Amino acid sequence: MSAPESPREETSSSLATHRSSLLTVRDLAKHFPIRGGVVRAVDGVSFDLAPGETLGVVGESGSGKTTLGRLALRLIEPTRGAVYFDGQDLATLDSTALRRTRRAMQLVFQDPFGALNPRLTVGEIVGEGLVIHAMARGTTLRERIAAALERVGLPPDAAARYPHEFSGGQRQRIGIARALAVEPRLIVADEPVSALDVSIQAQIVNLLQDLQDRLGLAYLFIAHDLRVVEHIAGRVAIMYLGRIVELADSQILYATPRHLYTRALLSAVPAIDPAERRERIALNGEAPSPIHPPAGCPFHPRCAYAEARCRTEVPPLIGSATHQVACHVFPV
Ligand code: SF4
Repeated sequence: MSAPESPREETSSSLATHRSSLLTVRDLAKHFPIRGGVVRAVDGVSFDLAPGETLGVVGESGSGKTTLGRLALRLIEPTRGAVYFDGQDLATLDSTALRRTRRAMQLVFQDPFGALNPRLTVGEIVGEGLVIHAMARGTTLRERIAAALERVGLPPDAAARYPHEFSGGQRQRIGIARALAVEPRLIVADEPVSALDVSIQAQIVNLLQDLQDRLGLAYLFIAHDLRVVEHIAGRVAIMYLGRIVELADSQILYATPRHLYTRALLSAVPAIDPAERRERIALNGEAPSPIHPPAGCPFHPRCAYAEARCRTEVPPLIGSATHQVACHVFPV
């Protein structure tokens, strides 16, 4: 089945009318049953991602962004909704076709320490996908491992060493080389720099950007603060309690955010230029539990602008092709 044509007011999908979508997500939801209820980790998310594009997904811990990344790769089954990759509905693929498609969709993890098997050499780690997918063996396998290491700025002799011999930034480069080795078209990068020193974070973001320019990769770049995605994401989706509350082209989002939650996140980003410093916006209370999300707008218990209907009606994510927001009071 091919990906659906998008109505203008359906979340970010309006952009799909202008460019072909590599990844199409529609009304995706994941509810985890627990004793006495369900956790609505992701609750009706839709977006498109074009080839070579980066969509930043930003939210606090518990916003559902990591679950969304795994749903997009179909590493976990959704409760509701659909994921299309290159026009193919992933739910309709048999296990062989899904494995072949998964090769083109790779995951880079947050924790470069925990994500690499300490008993394997770097060469074995980077080459694992090539072997599993029968893409190379013998001399060709060694050459492709060396090429992947070189692409991420590691020397060829790294292949014979073990992960513990490398620094945090180098280990993240190994994780990226492992993803790149199987020639993906999409990488879901789940907080790929959060565990690294700030000085190393910029190096890894620059590397990802350089690889995207050279290889035309699309990234779903998950982060918990807006500073990290500012220079790499062409568009940014802000998640709150399992939903996208604002989605816009980056320049628009950073210059004219509409949702109070986005404005609060932005106000926490340190500005180097004093002229760009924003007044800090403090929100009321903590984020509510996704086990018992508030009725109406899920943000209303923390919102200084909440009106009566905010407590009963869920605001739809609507707006223009370049900027959508889910707010009754501050529409685009
Ligand atoms: Fe605040 Fe209402 Fe907008 Fe929700 S819909 S963000 S409660 S003003």
